[in-house]
Amino acid sequence: MQQQATISVKLTGGKGTPGHGRVSRLVFILAFVMILLSAASLAYVGNIASREADMQATQKQRQLLDNVLAGRLQLMSRDLYSIVHWDDAVTGLVKKFDQDFVSDQLIYWLDLNLQAQRAFIVTSNGRVLGDVVNSEAQFSNRTLANDDPLMDVTRKAIDKFMKLRVPVDDGYGLKTITLSQVNDIAATAMMNVEGQPSLVTAMAVTPDDQEALPAKSQPVVVIAVKSLDSALLAELNQTLAFQNFTFETTGETDPSRTAQAITGPDGKQVGQFVWRGSRPGTAVWSVVMPVILAVCGVMTVITAFAAYRIGGLSTKLEESEARNRFLALHDNLTGLSNRFHFHETLDRHISSLPQNEFAVLACDLDRFKAVNDTYGHAAGDAVIRTVANRLAGKIGTAGMVGRVGGDEFVILLNGFTDIPRIQILCRQIIASVCEPIMLETGVMASVGVSLGVALAPASGTTNTHLMASADAALYAAKERGRGCAVFAHEIAKSDEQQPEVKKDEGAHRAA
Ligand code: GH3
Ligand code: MG
Repeated sequence: MQQQATISVKLTGGKGTPGHGRVSRLVFILAFVMILLSAASLAYVGNIASREADMQATQKQRQLLDNVLAGRLQLMSRDLYSIVHWDDAVTGLVKKFDQDFVSDQLIYWLDLNLQAQRAFIVTSNGRVLGDVVNSEAQFSNRTLANDDPLMDVTRKAIDKFMKLRVPVDDGYGLKTITLSQVNDIAATAMMNVEGQPSLVTAMAVTPDDQEALPAKSQPVVVIAVKSLDSALLAELNQTLAFQNFTFETTGETDPSRTAQAITGPDGKQVGQFVWRGSRPGTAVWSVVMPVILAVCGVMTVITAFAAYRIGGLSTKLEESEARNRFLALHDNLTGLSNRFHFHETLDRHISSLPQNEFAVLACDLDRFKAVNDTYGHAAGDAVIRTVANRLAGKIGTAGMVGRVGGDEFVILLNGFTDIPRIQILCRQIIASVCEPIMLETGVMASVGVSLGVALAPASGTTNTHLMASADAALYAAKERGRGCAVFAHEIAKSDEQQPEVKKDEGAHRAA
């Protein structure tokens, strides 16, 4: 059993009590979770902002590429317009197809204005009147397949021409358009021409002055082709200034690069422009990270402060609670268990009977009043404290000691219950208490003690019965001249001889 009678029981806890640590740790854990959540939400916001910035930059770059391509195609169309919107072209290509005109005039102007590697002269039904291959004219007289993308741009060019043609005296002319309206007459596209990704513009041959397209003539379309070679890529990138700008015909996408797919007029993918996109999102992190660190730092400092203060308050509360609990259960003068605590403990032990036997020792100091009378009440208090200490020392962990009255103590002994050992213990207690006590004044005081022992369950199985038995035995010890111990079962035996007198007296003492 825990020995609670030691007078030197500490009523206060220190800073390092478990309560202080527990509450502080709880606050720290909560704060740590909060800090983690804050950091995670900031990181999440940073991530969204960074991705949004990257996405917008990519969108702008794609838009810019589209504009540059459209601008380049429009430039090609303007150059072609200056060649095919020409009376001589009507005469040499529409009215009568003149191979010399192609070789001498058309190629010259195509080279000069467009630097087109490839050109086709096609009628509206797809017959190829002439090919221009690297400034050389060829006349194969073949027909384009219906699903040839070149046929597609030819048809579109014819459609546009039909919308703009106007009847004149001897046929058709073209409604006047400005250079900025050239897309109204030109059909442009990016497509594979003979396996080579190319920019293409196609336009019907129209008169610019005196000539007219004969009413019954078939429209003739000139298609100019510029290969998307490294020179053209470099030219496009002068405006774009993209890093590692290139055109790939394979569809592989590398996530670290930005790609813009190009689809031909037939709906088939020609390839994709690829470049290393700008990543302004990484700049977001250089702003977000210091904010995350600052927020975490400030929160950690606030938390540490709060945890310290809360921990301190909690310790004070726990100390005060422990003090109140101790005062409610212990005797002020000696620090031993008080009557309430002793009876509570006794009840607990009674409930474990008969398995766990124990003994109750009622103790009353002999002629204690004389100490009070001779040396004063304070000296009497000092004697009570010394006796309490001696009793607690003798019992140790074999039981508990309580103070239940002025000079009355009671011992609950459960470390051993055999009578011879109890008798030895009683003799030791009597000898210990009898030893002179040095008072503050230097005077030696001495008291004795009488003991009444009740064994449980032999001398009682209820609180009242056991206490009455112990008190009756104590009374008998006083009767026998004090300074001795009497066992309750002994006087019970003698009660059988003189039952009336002893039982009454015992009952009186217990009450
Ligand atoms: P007996 O040998 O028959 O036990 O007689 P006693 O002189 O020891 O006196 P008794 O046990 O009848 O009474 C105990 C006395 O203890 C009565 C009271 O004046 C005194 N007393 C009670 N409480 C305190 C206390 O807290 N401090 C002091 N100094 N004396 C107390
Ligand atoms: Mg007494």
